[in-house]
Amino acid sequence: MTDAQTFYLLLAAFYLYECLSFAPSGSQAFAGKGGKIWRWREPAFHLSGAHKEVFCAPIIPWPGLLSVFPTNPATAPIGPLSLHHLRKRSLLLGKITAPLRELGLLLFLHYFLVFPIVYYYYLGTIWVIVAILMGELLALITACRFYCIHKRLFPEAKGERRIETFFNAFFPWHSMRASDLIVRKMTATWNPLILLAGDAQHPKNTRQLARLWREATYANDTTGLASLLDLADIDPAPWNRPPGLDADQKFCPICRTIYDAGPTTCVDCRGVSLQGNQS
Ligand SMILES: [Zn+2]
Repeated sequence: MTDAQTFYLLLAAFYLYECLSFAPSGSQAFAGKGGKIWRWREPAFHLSGAHKEVFCAPIIPWPGLLSVFPTNPATAPIGPLSLHHLRKRSLLLGKITAPLRELGLLLFLHYFLVFPIVYYYYLGTIWVIVAILMGELLALITACRFYCIHKRLFPEAKGERRIETFFNAFFPWHSMRASDLIVRKMTATWNPLILLAGDAQHPKNTRQLARLWREATYANDTTGLASLLDLADIDPAPWNRPPGLDADQKFCPICRTIYDAGPTTCVDCRGVSLQGNQS
């Protein structure tokens, strides 16, 4: 393997690692586009031994955002943040992080497209050095923008700002994802349920809301969720309707999987008792 191949293998591996978010089991993640819409995102994989979920951010740094909430939405307080406020905050988040995501895209294209072409066709010429300097200049600009945005939003977090600015300036895989930390910190106090309800008509969000509603119904505690659905003008009644079953079949009240005679609890939803047709 040549030095260039080794460099790109490491760059790709480090970059992919930057795209991953490790969170406790039961966490919720949302992918957004420029802060306008948020869609529920399934974990890329589970680390069951470590009780962790691993979420992958959109691979291209622009326009995607990823926010991970290490909370159980069924027990998280709804808080005073209304859907209207959420939309305003979301748009603000998109606007604030736009320069970092655009610079991230430029860095991504520079390192994964422009630089390999220059290296292949112009190896041994001044153009390779120009390409290296261009990459470093982009990273330095990203680090400066990050420093200014972070200082404005989180003036008290000086230590974090210095460390992250250093990483952004000298590690290109990190500077490509410079906006991720800002997104995580800005959305930390949001309730994931409000993100779901903010775009409830999208199938992914509807599916997840329906599941959370059935979980709350099964636990006999729908108070918080019911008030949110009411706020978003969503009728949850159809989500609890039992599926059509044969006489000896049962279904899981959470995931709706239908079982023939045999098990009494759902394989996927630990401890949840199966129900027969109540009609
Ligand atoms: Zn189930």
